[in-house]
Amino acid sequence: MKSGIVYLIGAGPGNPDLLTVRARQLIESAEVLVYDYLVHPAFTYLLRPDCERICVGKRAGFHSKSQAEIQEILLAKAGEGKRVARLKGGDPFLFGRGGEEAAALAAAGIAFEVVPGITAAMGAAAYSGTPLTARNTNATLIFVTGHEDPEKPDTTVDWESLPKRNATLCIYMGVGNLDRIATRLLDGGFDKDTAVSCVEWATMGHQRVCRGKLGTISKEARAFGLKAPAIIIVGETAAMGENLSWFEKKPLQGRRFVVTRSQGQASELSSKLEKLGAEVIGLPLISISRNIDPQTMKDVFAEIASYDWLVFSSPNGVRYFFEAFFETFEDIRSLGFLRIAAVGKSTAREIRKFYVTTDLIPDEANADSLADALIKTDSMDSAKILVVAGNLGRDTLIDRLEEARAIVDRFEVYKTEATDLSEHPASKMFREQGADGILFTSSSGVRSFVDQAKFLQLEKDALRPKTLSIGKITSAAMKELGLPVDLQAKEASLDSLVEGVVNRFGKVSSEL
Ligand code: SAH
Repeated sequence: MKSGIVYLIGAGPGNPDLLTVRARQLIESAEVLVYDYLVHPAFTYLLRPDCERICVGKRAGFHSKSQAEIQEILLAKAGEGKRVARLKGGDPFLFGRGGEEAAALAAAGIAFEVVPGITAAMGAAAYSGTPLTARNTNATLIFVTGHEDPEKPDTTVDWESLPKRNATLCIYMGVGNLDRIATRLLDGGFDKDTAVSCVEWATMGHQRVCRGKLGTISKEARAFGLKAPAIIIVGETAAMGENLSWFEKKPLQGRRFVVTRSQGQASELSSKLEKLGAEVIGLPLISISRNIDPQTMKDVFAEIASYDWLVFSSPNGVRYFFEAFFETFEDIRSLGFLRIAAVGKSTAREIRKFYVTTDLIPDEANADSLADALIKTDSMDSAKILVVAGNLGRDTLIDRLEEARAIVDRFEVYKTEATDLSEHPASKMFREQGADGILFTSSSGVRSFVDQAKFLQLEKDALRPKTLSIGKITSAAMKELGLPVDLQAKEASLDSLVEGVVNRFGKVSSEL
């Protein structure tokens, strides 16, 4: 029997891009993932489909596991010979009880490794423009907890005797006690004019920063509505954030959007929004998997060189088609002299990855425009056309090409199924936090959103997002299913949709 191992992994402060390469590798290969509430749902997209997920999330008022139970889970899973990724927010050895988990593993003789992560204070410092040290003014750096074991009658942090000059304090878990902490620091001799930056949800699209002075910060934080998780940075350098802040200047910073996506696939739209500073929740409403009937595949490939047109209606179709193609043929020239059409730019980009250019892309990315464009080439009469599709594709395209007297074969290469969202971290995050907008890029996305609506009930009605559409076909599906269309992109493209979002929700920014 193979022996198990536990990796105590720091997941960083929240922004998925701040994961280390090592952490990423270990998450990708894990057989069991044990994670906390603060860990971003995006990490689950890295997992193998068969990876077991155990949320031991700590959050007041929610069912969560005790530290002893967590340790038992780690011991039990590693005992079964599994590779366990224990993912913890920030760094595992900093206010995260990673030390206790390591000690329990060591005591049980179970192999473990520790992967450092970017701790919340460093994330908060970088993303709020607050250097933690400075040559002449801040020579000491202190990480301190503002919330100790509530069972203890007295705290062990000696606030009054912390260094009062030339130091930076980074206070973790301090939001609830900010009032008391500030008072004790002032009592200990801190200057009431010492700068303070409170960084809420540091590094995330919805990061907020409350800047003030020690003497008044608890009042300022209350007015600001500061909530956990936040890092409180106290010290002269905290004043520099006014000039050095960069993240807050991004046009969509502070906004949260939902995009529908399929399980296990990267989302181009998410990365476009994230680049502009937005927080993105990717709801994996559907999962897409290869689904090719072996006999059909044999028939299609036997005749492949006899087709005049090869038509792709989605990037997934391209991926699964070429995967199957290269299982049958060794050389791209086996495709013959056919011409290639793609429904839109993203599909054409996917085709390009196989060093193949697309001969025809319609102006608008939808089945009707694709049919129009093909018919306009005047080459449909008696032409043999292979349309690569999934199980859901509308038959408009095929009907219209057949009307134009083409001989059309449909080659189904993948299927789309609903994902179980009941316990998924992304749907949990959506239910609890809502969003500014939800972006629909296809009518099938709208349909699967509505189908899964029971798992997407918001905890508060005020969190309801605006519903945004990429183009008229998606809008029609939204209206048909009872969703308002709050915004429709000028052109049916991701870039145009993003531009619409920036105009509607963005900060006025000179950078744009
Ligand atoms: N091991 C973690 C800390 C866990 S303690 C680390 O190294 O970062 C939990 C505290 O971390 C929270 O109360 C908050 O003070 C801080 N924290 C975690 N994520 C944060 C974030 N994204 N923004 C601000 N503070 C965060």
